[in-house]
Amino acid sequence: MEAPEFKDFAKSMVDYIAEYLENIRDRRVLPEVKPGYLKPLIPDEAPEKPESWQAIMEDIERVIMPGVTHWHSPKFHAYFPTANSYPAIVADMLSGAIACIGFTWIASPACTELEVAMMDWLGKMLDLPSDFLASSGGKGGGVIQGTASESTLVALLGAKAKKLQEVKAEHPEWDEHTIIGKLVGYCSDQAHSSVERAGLLGGIKLRSVKSENNRLRGDALEKAIEKDLADGLIPFYAVVTLGTTNSCAFDRLDECGAVGNKHNVWIHVDAAYAGSAFICPEYRHYMKGMERADSFNFNPHKWMLVNFDCSAMWLKDPSWVVNAFNVDPLYLKHDMQGSAPDYRHWQIPLGRRFRALKLWFVLRLYGVENLQAHIRRHCNFAKQFGDLCVADSRFELAAEVNMGLVCFRLKGNNERNEALLKRINGRGNIHMVPAKINDVYFLRMAVCSRFTQSEDMEYSWKEVSAAADEMEAAK
Ligand code: PLP
Repeated sequence: MEAPEFKDFAKSMVDYIAEYLENIRDRRVLPEVKPGYLKPLIPDEAPEKPESWQAIMEDIERVIMPGVTHWHSPKFHAYFPTANSYPAIVADMLSGAIACIGFTWIASPACTELEVAMMDWLGKMLDLPSDFLASSGGKGGGVIQGTASESTLVALLGAKAKKLQEVKAEHPEWDEHTIIGKLVGYCSDQAHSSVERAGLLGGIKLRSVKSENNRLRGDALEKAIEKDLADGLIPFYAVVTLGTTNSCAFDRLDECGAVGNKHNVWIHVDAAYAGSAFICPEYRHYMKGMERADSFNFNPHKWMLVNFDCSAMWLKDPSWVVNAFNVDPLYLKHDMQGSAPDYRHWQIPLGRRFRALKLWFVLRLYGVENLQAHIRRHCNFAKQFGDLCVADSRFELAAEVNMGLVCFRLKGNNERNEALLKRINGRGNIHMVPAKINDVYFLRMAVCSRFTQSEDMEYSWKEVSAAADEMEAAK
């Protein structure tokens, strides 16, 4: 494909994208296809001769769209949101065009330097303690990871490297294998599954500590640490979740941070979803104690209008991570080493895309005030839906309405609620997923779309209510 044709193709695609997104509300949110639907719609082999771009454009509606779950529809309420905005889409086009692999500073200086600057902009927007920021002139700094799962693992590996070094210095007679066998990390029973997975990948024991009212408290963490110390184990890492996946509960960072500091345990803060809300001063009380954390992560790709993938991670002392992963072949060395971060040392893969561009475009084209407005609108929509739920005597809230998430259920047993969700999703007009805490099953309504209006909340509640009516009629 040459440039003139590229221009026509890309313009046609931009028109298609705008039409798709602006009219997304009219599509059925959950596809009706069955597994294997796509295979008969495309040839068994790649074409021998080139096709036209127009043929591809035609196949988007025929082949792709019937099997798309429309995450950006105001009728999509499953999981947590994934972000989408025109500035981020355009930035991804430019990133695709530059297509550098910015693993070191010299591999594309703009890629590294814009990332350093954007992580500082973003850190200041959240009012992070200054020692997380590169501009403070200290050790700290930020990096864009692909996902929160990677950040949790990277922090765990950094914590492991740090503790190994400390214990080796104290017990030169112990071999590495013995020390690793004694390492133990902690998270609450409400932490995301990626935390348990990080423990498995990192080859260490990870304890699930009982939460209180879905939040990890300092005394429970301290008890778990003290028991392990008494048993001769070595506590080294704890994950504090700000905005749990089940119910958007907030662990007590102030308490857990103090316990972590007392026992020299690395505190990693996972605020994958709710962290975006910290750009609004009224939500920053949840961050109390952040100065005690060693690493902090949230996903602008969830709730801050930056398309996947963009997971912002800050480290107070990145040298633990940098040194933990440091392999230095000649072909990756360069003359400027040490004067700017070589982000290959801060992450698991070598290659990395120019992700800072989409952060730059979104921050400039929305401005902080419009991003704050986006968060506040979603929180208000959740309140609206929560009020509708409380006003119907058949229903109850399963947890406090926090941020853009409403956890609710029909009064009564789990089976009724499983049947309700099946009916809601079966009607095909809105989409939700369930969660279970202490064996109580409930439905989660997450406000996900940037196109959501107050009427959409009324519509979604009517769908829930109609599904409940159907159940009563079928009795
Ligand atoms: N942590 C929390 C609290 C989450 O809610 C999620 C996903 O929803 C994750 C981690 C995993 O995020 P990612 O897909 O970016 O790894």
